[in-house]
Amino acid sequence: MTDMMTPEQRTRCMQHIRGSNTKPEILVRKYLFAAGFRFRVNVRRLPGTPDILLRKYKTAIFINGCFWHGHAHCPLFRLPKSNVSFWKNKIERNQERDIKVNQQLRDLGWNVITIWECQLKPKVRLQTLDSLLHTLDQIYLMNHGQKGYTAEEECASLAAETEIQYGNNQLKDMTPHPYYHVVAAIIQHHDELLCMQRGKTRFPYTSFKYEFPGGKVEPGETSEEALQREIHEEMDYDIHVDSLFMTVTHEYPDFTITMEAFLCSAKDRCFTLREHHAYQWLPSSLLDTLDWAAADAPIAQALQERGIQ
Ligand SMILES: [Zn+2]
Repeated sequence: MTDMMTPEQRTRCMQHIRGSNTKPEILVRKYLFAAGFRFRVNVRRLPGTPDILLRKYKTAIFINGCFWHGHAHCPLFRLPKSNVSFWKNKIERNQERDIKVNQQLRDLGWNVITIWECQLKPKVRLQTLDSLLHTLDQIYLMNHGQKGYTAEEECASLAAETEIQYGNNQLKDMTPHPYYHVVAAIIQHHDELLCMQRGKTRFPYTSFKYEFPGGKVEPGETSEEALQREIHEEMDYDIHVDSLFMTVTHEYPDFTITMEAFLCSAKDRCFTLREHHAYQWLPSSLLDTLDWAAADAPIAQALQERGIQ
């Protein structure tokens, strides 16, 4: 990682990031600065006051503490032993607000990326930040297609006091490579999880692999709505979407996806196999016995390690 900041820029940056700013936020900002990104921080005029706003990328980034935002099934999220109902209420209100804010921002045309505190722990930090850069590149390509670079004027009109620039933001990879925002359902019924096997697909690396069912989020839909629609269309199955479990960005050879995987529940096991080849209900402890699609594998692994509650 090259540090492209001049001493003056660094001073400005350090002055700016003191105060209400938390350590994980600083980490992400420093990384983005060094990679040449230009952004604004703590943007109060937008819903939820995004921690980082990359206008050129139409992207708002939130860096969420796992406790305050109730990161589902996260080792860093444990309710205190006393005043349980007080904390539970407080965190549930925060979660509801997060969902509402995400939707408001999406309605305003922003992409929303949430980075969790636990994803910035030393072991996984670089992977998370690399995946963030890649996602931003893909968002840029998706928004701009072949039309080239027109965002400069847009940014000039917004040159508020909080905007800081660090060098050129050169896109590393201009090859056409579609980016999709998808959702997946981790459907639980009586302590077992529904694992769907795909049939033969266009790409050898997804053929006959297991996955959590779901699909693409359409414009104007919330992730939850997209998931319910997809599961209904694909499987004629009505599920309840409970909470976000984790988000994975994976680069396949021909496309990249950012997949939000939600914990879901179902009243029964009555669905129709329309698009898939086969399925299995398995306890989380046996998920590693299946051959998962690469994007789904980290989700299966996290479920196996953390268990389901
Ligand atoms: Zn977490």
